[in-house]
Amino acid sequence: MNYSICKRCNELFERNGKEYCDSCTQKLNKEFDLIIDYIKKYPKATVIDIIIDTGVSLKTINLMVEEGYVSYVPNDDNNADNRQLVVKIQKLISKRGKFYSRELVK
Ligand SMILES: [Zn+2]
Repeated sequence: MNYSICKRCNELFERNGKEYCDSCTQKLNKEFDLIIDYIKKYPKATVIDIIIDTGVSLKTINLMVEEGYVSYVPNDDNNADNRQLVVKIQKLISKRGKFYSRELVK
């Protein structure tokens, strides 16, 4: 049996071609839905706003940035805490299914 180490929880899981175990994949999908909906609703929201209002962790956001689903944009005062996130829709379409499966653009 082949195992991988989950990038999110660092647990061993049965290799399935993904970088996250099943339980983390589900959590990430849910958290990513929250983040996408939040950014759509409040395009000016900062990373801190997102964390406070959606309850996702900075680690999750960083994983999503790392995966290329969203990206940080610096804002005017250049304060790291006030960074904003933009959704990279094109990336989402081209990478859809890697761990995020919801159809975003119809
Ligand atoms: Zn995991």
